Amino acid sequence: MKTRTKVVVIGGGIAGCSTLYHLTQEGWTDVVLVERNELTSGTTWHSAAQVTNFGATQTMVGLKTHSIALYKELAEDPEYPINYHHADGGIRLANTEAQMEGYRHFISVAKGMGVDFELIDAEECARRHPLVSTDNLLGGLWDPLDGDIDPAQLCQALARRARLAGAEVYRNTPVTGLTQHKDDTWTVHTENGDIDCDIVVNACGYRVNEVGAMMGVHHPVASMEHQYFLTEPIKAIEESDFRMPLLRCPISDYYCRQEKNGLLVGFYEQDCKTWGMDGIDPNFVNALCPDDLDRVMDVLEGAFERMPALTEVGIHSIVNGPITYTIDGAPLVGPIPGKRNAFCIIGLRAGLGEGGGHGWLLAQQIVHGEACYDTWVIDPRRFTGHANVELTALKAIEDYQNEFRFHFPHEHRPAGRPAKTTPITPILAAAGAEFGVVNGWERMEFIKPTPDFHQTYSFKFNETFDVVAEEVKAVQTSVGMTEVNGFNRFEITGPGARDWLDTIVCSRVPKKIGKVGLTYLLNDHGNIKGEATLANLSEDKIWYGSAAASEYHDMDWLQKHLPKDGSVEIKSLTNDYTILVIAGPKSRDVLSAVSRGDWSKEAFPWLSVREAFIGIAPAVVMSVSFSGELAYEIHVPNNQLYAAYLALRGAGETFGMKLFGSMAVESMRLEKGYRHWKADLITEFNPFESDLPRFVKLDKPAFIGKDALLKMKEDGPRRSFVSLVIDCTHAPAHGGDSIVDADGKCVGTITSAGWGYRTSKNIAMGFVDPEFAAIGTEVFVEVIGESIAAKVVEPDLYDPEYARIRA
Ligand SMILES: Cc1cc2nc3c(=O)[nH]c(=O)nc-3n(C[C@H](O)[C@H](O)[C@H](O)COP(=O)(O)OP(=O)(O)OC[C@H]3O[C@@H](n4cnc5c(N)ncnc54)[C@H](O)[C@@H]3O)c2cc1C
Repeated sequence: MKTRTKVVVIGGGIAGCSTLYHLTQEGWTDVVLVERNELTSGTTWHSAAQVTNFGATQTMVGLKTHSIALYKELAEDPEYPINYHHADGGIRLANTEAQMEGYRHFISVAKGMGVDFELIDAEECARRHPLVSTDNLLGGLWDPLDGDIDPAQLCQALARRARLAGAEVYRNTPVTGLTQHKDDTWTVHTENGDIDCDIVVNACGYRVNEVGAMMGVHHPVASMEHQYFLTEPIKAIEESDFRMPLLRCPISDYYCRQEKNGLLVGFYEQDCKTWGMDGIDPNFVNALCPDDLDRVMDVLEGAFERMPALTEVGIHSIVNGPITYTIDGAPLVGPIPGKRNAFCIIGLRAGLGEGGGHGWLLAQQIVHGEACYDTWVIDPRRFTGHANVELTALKAIEDYQNEFRFHFPHEHRPAGRPAKTTPITPILAAAGAEFGVVNGWERMEFIKPTPDFHQTYSFKFNETFDVVAEEVKAVQTSVGMTEVNGFNRFEITGPGARDWLDTIVCSRVPKKIGKVGLTYLLNDHGNIKGEATLANLSEDKIWYGSAAASEYHDMDWLQKHLPKDGSVEIKSLTNDYTILVIAGPKSRDVLSAVSRGDWSKEAFPWLSVREAFIGIAPAVVMSVSFSGELAYEIHVPNNQLYAAYLALRGAGETFGMKLFGSMAVESMRLEKGYRHWKADLITEFNPFESDLPRFVKLDKPAFIGKDALLKMKEDGPRRSFVSLVIDCTHAPAHGGDSIVDADGKCVGTITSAGWGYRTSKNIAMGFVDPEFAAIGTEVFVEVIGESIAAKVVEPDLYDPEYARIRA
């Protein structure tokens, strides 16, 4: 066994084998994998191993496409062929029009990744899958490349290829401890000796938290018991001249695929069970949980109705094994929060289908610092402090119970809520607030017009349309107030703070005390890493503000680049403060009524910051606006938030101040062309492509990503960010929808979209091929199955002169 290597991957299931192989593909061959038992002896060996291309986001579709291409290539390798039923095809069923609408949207998403799904009706479902009954069925989404693979052969093939490239695999080598050294390198302690290395990767499946504990972290991953059975041969299959397509049924929560001449049928029962919450038997190896078909009876009946053939066939065997889930259903693939040189590829609930792609994206992150796609949807840093073991278990159960039921826009499921609140959450609830969830925070979306108001979740505009219109009107004509909780806020202090930040962001750091500036952070490749508002509070104190979920992500990046001499310090105030925003032409009057001092335009113009009191509550007030109206962000310590809220509400009464929610904010920011981090601002594009040239100061001597950016600038844009107005009133576009030309060829992707109430326009933002970026260019957007005319417009659709913000 080596005693020194570059990377140690811990765990020899699909996650570890794929990572090891892809590291060698990225050029790192001095890498090893250690496995406590035999390869695939965790979950992987007994997986149903279905390999679908379906995904809800472009990143997920893209990584699955990679898996499929890789598996096909491995299967066809004459030296080591493996069993892969490639392209049997698969159907996701639907019995409601709303589900069909969702599928139309996902078809549009996949198109941008070069993947063609098809929407088929009930009769066509039955034609393609002769065992399916059309009762209570509307149709389904057809994935032509769906299939299944032999999981053990797959892992062996990946390990073999990795070995051929120089990697080493040590079986029967349990990792017993991890030590990190001052220079951030590691020693991996195993039962067979120590290995020193630069980087460790946790790929330990359901034992993720045993190995997490060795480095002092808890990962938000919980295991669920999951069962399938294999049937005896079915005559119709034996006589069929084609293999049965795969089937996933959100109506009755089961899936099935052909196995030999029978079926493999798996269940997502409501009466489901977590597993291993209080520790896992060390001897649970190549093992299964006890069969428990009674538990799946609710789902089994539905499966029998959908596939009557199941009632006539015997059960050959039952498999019940642990499967890992996270808080939002997507795995954790990337840097481990708060650690250096440590990565994970964990929480895979569909690891066979996705594992090829996840290992690919992880290896790119390890070797290059970033992957070819923006990986935020799988980034382990997307959850912060609230992501504890109990919350994870509740969300795992909920997700398992809804396995094939995708989330509709604005649908926030109830388990584990409320997780993060502020002192005024109950006050806002009493005022009728409907909340959504942002990184665990209960964020007000709109105020319900009546206590029993309900929205129908839909990809179309719904009952909230008129409600949000009224909130926007109040802001536009008088004044409104909203709470922005969970906003990420770092206090950066020290004599070197400003000069250091100047090397971190590509924009100008505000110089004058009392000034605020919007800035962008680039990664080493010159693409957009982050967006931050910098507020100059004193000679050596700057507040750094960024999106609500960015705390761990941004802290990770900033600390990595912190000067070693201690001249700059960073402290997170994210959980200590909350923002109250007042916006609208009367907002200055409200502020002046509750806070001493001169708040006039001259004394406190747009982009100013000042410490002040709101009534008796201390606050940091910034004149910044995400709505396009005159507005103030008032940052208040949480223990005095209610006091500040009462003071502002009291003062607002004179002006008929209304509460407004995040849906109104979303509409207004679209009309101003303001971007959202990780929707419109992603690591795939640089600030020029993202249409932010005014925030790039190339005359600065140095900033992270500058050299790479200069090179990219010379090469010209890969894609260009645009605003669009879409010619329809029944539905907004949705992130991931495809933008196509007159011939239906995909020329871009929507990043965010919604209705602009002040401009009466259906607005969208997205990236297009550069030749489609000129103002006035006509394109089409594929919105829930329809190709709708759209035009490229100036981003500032509302108040382009900024007269209202500066008023
Ligand atoms: C019944 C069932 C059906 C499924 N069907 C599908 C499907 O159809 N399609 C699909 O895509 N997915 C499916 N899955 C999920 C899929 O099987 C898993 O996502 C995948 O196998 C997880 O792989 P992994 O590598 O993350 O974990 P594992 O396979 O569990 O591998 C982790 C490895 O880490 C090793 N390890 C742990 N601790 C240590 C240590 N201290 N030192 C060294 N090594 C250690 C373990 O021994 C193990 O080999 C199914 C799962 C189940 C249970």
